[in-house]
Amino acid sequence: MTIMKSACPSRMIENTVLPVSLADIERAATRIAGRVVRTPLTPSPTLSKRAGQPVHLKLETLQPIGAFKLRGAMNAILSRDNAARRRGLVTASTGNHGRAVAYAARELGVPATICMSSLVPANKVEAIRSLGANIRIVGVSQDDAQDEVERLVQTLDLTPIPPFDDVDVVAGQGTIGLELVEDLPDLATVLVPLSGGGLAGGIAVAAKALKPQARIIGISMERGAAMYAAVAAGKPVAVREEETLADSLGGGIGLSNRVTFALCRALLDDVVLLTEDEIAAGIRHAAREEDQVVEGAGAVGMAAILANKVQLLGPTAVIVSGRNIDPAIHRSLIGRSTR
Ligand SMILES: *Cc1c(COP(=O)(O)O)cnc(C)c1O
Repeated sequence: MTIMKSACPSRMIENTVLPVSLADIERAATRIAGRVVRTPLTPSPTLSKRAGQPVHLKLETLQPIGAFKLRGAMNAILSRDNAARRRGLVTASTGNHGRAVAYAARELGVPATICMSSLVPANKVEAIRSLGANIRIVGVSQDDAQDEVERLVQTLDLTPIPPFDDVDVVAGQGTIGLELVEDLPDLATVLVPLSGGGLAGGIAVAAKALKPQARIIGISMERGAAMYAAVAAGKPVAVREEETLADSLGGGIGLSNRVTFALCRALLDDVVLLTEDEIAAGIRHAAREEDQVVEGAGAVGMAAILANKVQLLGPTAVIVSGRNIDPAIHRSLIGRSTR
């Protein structure tokens, strides 16, 4: 799977002005310091043995909302002006981004409205309501919820905080890249869960600016890998959404993507796709060998190593991006002895 290299020879990187810079990410790190957790990078003896290279886990599961998305949301909210913040924030995510916006808004003492469709399960609605956000239930799809966000921006002048396609969100996620290089100065490879590309794009900007030889590999599921399809097609394309254990990696990148497609196309060295069984094996490995409860999206880096789908050259960081998995699904996965 080398679509990236043929799609973008490395000389193109130098000639293209990318929408997010190392300086943007360094400013984000200063802005969010003390408001997000500076997470540890811990060695994994079992994965190191398996890969024949030192493998370390970046535990974003330790963020207060259980996922890295707090970094981008916090940076974006703090980057909007005071008046825009006080008018109120709005977004449509029911998952980790919704939690992140709700949590950050509460911390900063500003109102947040999270739009969601009537099909969103009650436990997800409650998780976000309990963080203090206003919930607005409209329509029967994620698109309907997004339409409501745009309506509230138009009519009430609320301030939208997008889940990934936003310079400040990407810069916030990129602070992970600064920490990786600090903690692992001879960083050679980073395995990053890939959906809209805010996480992978931000980390790639920071890591490659500081360690130009570092390889950044995006990992998605076979079922509905939107950024993979976009890079292969040379432009954002619609992808059918399917159910997957890596539910936080579902959804499109937006047909009029402005930021993350350019970053991923220019900076990712490869994208690897995983089957549902491979993702399940990653979740099980995390629970049994690493003593970590990890959601499907957070387990794909470990899963890619276990499935022998990535070649690691030198010290490797695996981004363990989140832990918010339905407890019943987690129990049923780790109870099973097959792999
Ligand atoms: C959102 C998310 C991702 C993917 O991040 P993108 O910036 O959309 O690529 C990965 N893991 C978890 C747990 C997430 O919530």
